[in-house]
Amino acid sequence: MPELPDVENFKVYFRRNGLNKKITAIECSTPSLIKEVRFSDFKKKLMEKKFKDVRRRGKFLIIDIARIPEKLIIHFGMTGGLSYAEQDTERKGRDRFSRLIFKFDNNEELRWLNVRKLGKIYLKKDPESVELIKELGPEPLQISERQFFELLRKCQNKNIKAFLLDQRNIAGIGNIYSDEILFRAKINPHRIIETLSKIEKQNLYQGTINALREAIEIRPSYGMYGIRFETDWLLSHRHKDMECPRNKNHKLKREIIAGRAAIYCPICQK
Ligand SMILES: [Zn+2]
Repeated sequence: MPELPDVENFKVYFRRNGLNKKITAIECSTPSLIKEVRFSDFKKKLMEKKFKDVRRRGKFLIIDIARIPEKLIIHFGMTGGLSYAEQDTERKGRDRFSRLIFKFDNNEELRWLNVRKLGKIYLKKDPESVELIKELGPEPLQISERQFFELLRKCQNKNIKAFLLDQRNIAGIGNIYSDEILFRAKINPHRIIETLSKIEKQNLYQGTINALREAIEIRPSYGMYGIRFETDWLLSHRHKDMECPRNKNHKLKREIIAGRAAIYCPICQK
């Protein structure tokens, strides 16, 4: 699923390709993915308008539209992305799953891709009126170590991986990056928060910041998620050799933890 660094990448992609162009047509093959507004009304609102600005909140993109107060809100679900292409060129590969298409007056179009149809689109004046946005915890790259510790303190009895995954505690982290963060902090994903030492909590904070920042820096220049990680990342071994990046003799373990398929090094992560 696209997580914070992926959606940050989509933001850059949207900003580069989708802003300040007049919308001349809108197509949607799966109108049920547009929530709380009929597609005909959605279309009426957006036709002849321009996207003005885009920001990210958690795993959502929130897009300002010139001349109307509503914002376009995009969630990518499990398998989403964006694609910018010349109008009506063949939709190959992932582009076969273009569910919503904005055509612009420059003869190009922005496609919202969604393979498994688990994404969501909203058109709302107040993004906070979307329950999932209203409930979001703080952005991990915008909080201090003290604020991070405070979030942990409120969830003493929780499992640490479950804590990282829950968008209400902290926004934007999913299964993939929670594994990487815990590996960097050398914390076993089975741990309960109240058992963490101060140093482990500090490592967790630093691991969170570093993993997310570095993933954003190696951002690919396309609108799909899937970053190619260096071999010192846990994530680069996930679908390959299952070797620990710190020691070839450690075999990574795959287990369901907090309802998700976690991987970790049972030797490095205590
Ligand atoms: Zn190891």
